Amino acid sequence: MSLTNRILVAMAAGIVLGSGIELLLGSLSPESRVAGVINDYLIFGLFDVLGRIFIASLKLLVVPLVMVSLICGMTSLGSSARMGAIAGRTIGLYLLTTCVAVSLGLLGATLLGPGNGLSIEAASAYQAKTPPPLTDVLVNIFPSNPFSAMAKGEMLQVIVFALLVGFALTRAGEAGQRIASWFRDMEVVVMRMVGVMIELAPWGVFALLVKLFATMGFSTIANLAAYFLTLSGLLIFHGIVVYSLLLKTTTGLNPGLLRAKMRRVWAFAFSTASSGATLPITLRTVETRLGVPKSVAGFAVPLGATINMDGTAIMQGVATVFIAQVYGIDLTGSQLLMVILTATLASIGTAAVPGVGLITLSLVLTQAGLPVEGIALIIGVDRLLDMIRTAVNVTGDATVATIVAYKEGQLDVAVYNDPDADHDADQPAANATTGSPTSPTEKPAVSMEKS
Ligand code: ASP
Repeated sequence: MSLTNRILVAMAAGIVLGSGIELLLGSLSPESRVAGVINDYLIFGLFDVLGRIFIASLKLLVVPLVMVSLICGMTSLGSSARMGAIAGRTIGLYLLTTCVAVSLGLLGATLLGPGNGLSIEAASAYQAKTPPPLTDVLVNIFPSNPFSAMAKGEMLQVIVFALLVGFALTRAGEAGQRIASWFRDMEVVVMRMVGVMIELAPWGVFALLVKLFATMGFSTIANLAAYFLTLSGLLIFHGIVVYSLLLKTTTGLNPGLLRAKMRRVWAFAFSTASSGATLPITLRTVETRLGVPKSVAGFAVPLGATINMDGTAIMQGVATVFIAQVYGIDLTGSQLLMVILTATLASIGTAAVPGVGLITLSLVLTQAGLPVEGIALIIGVDRLLDMIRTAVNVTGDATVATIVAYKEGQLDVAVYNDPDADHDADQPAANATTGSPTSPTEKPAVSMEKS
């Protein structure tokens, strides 16, 4: 069985076993010995430990990977002017897709009315957390200490530092070339580490999902079925239809291929609910399976994981309308515009970890003059929705990276069109340790001018 299929089977098995455990626990008295053993030794023992080790190991690779990919990308580009064009296009597309996403959320929820007819319960119990002020978000992009930025995993700061190093290397003559070549070697090594993590993924994904579904509390989902279905429907629509249309109209490429190659990334995003933890897999997939060169992928994917959250923006649009409906408030045109603006900015300030979208939602609600306590209404069902919206978030990053590479005339269209590209990485371990010469990271960069 291919690795992607093994991960998908592990995902399904984790969901089934976790849901089974939840049902079993629901039928047992919480004080019973069996319930105690299941909770202590399985859910919060074995599965919790395995899942946390898996996420820690993924996060371990993020900073080294972003550093080396971005530096290699910059040095292979050789000119900072091109980098400026790539950056402009990437950021422009990220903002555009986020605006579309939040508008889709607002429109869909207004038409479907998931909150109509519901009454306010539990709302006053919610203690709003303070969202980060937007000015801080801007200032925090610039690092004062690169090691502290790396140690704290401040991705935007790491990106800025890596861009600076890459820029300096291209201007530092022979010394720069020597160090750039060291970074290229390092990239091969780090990509190998990502390969090892991917091999272990079925176990990690299984453990994470068993624990999540065993503790999910499905009864809350039933109470909020209309909200849940509206939001998940819109997320799937955006993830499949909107991105496909965008890719097709801007590049003419077959979007079905992108979706097929993203399945493994979706499994990671879904089970970790963190674009940050999924970043190593997104980056590897975008480079080796979609044919995006390092110069674009190394910049666009880490940046996207940090600032581009279309799934989160859809959630914020739907949640705003839902809360307004439950409280019986009619949203005015200027309130809707405010939501589009703040949700787009909030997506930049949302950290790529589980649940943060709900914290920045309080910023959106405050700006639109809506009751922040309304978040209490949806908090119970947020985890599963977070898993789905994270998969949408990473799809946005991969789609934009592909479009930017294509527009730059740098997409390896042959790799994109090859359904089996990087197929060796999809096979069980053998070549992960032997250093197969067909390794995608060792392939010479091929670039095709767009026709
Ligand atoms: N979990 C999301 C992500 O990492 C962020 C959020 O919406 O909470 O992309």
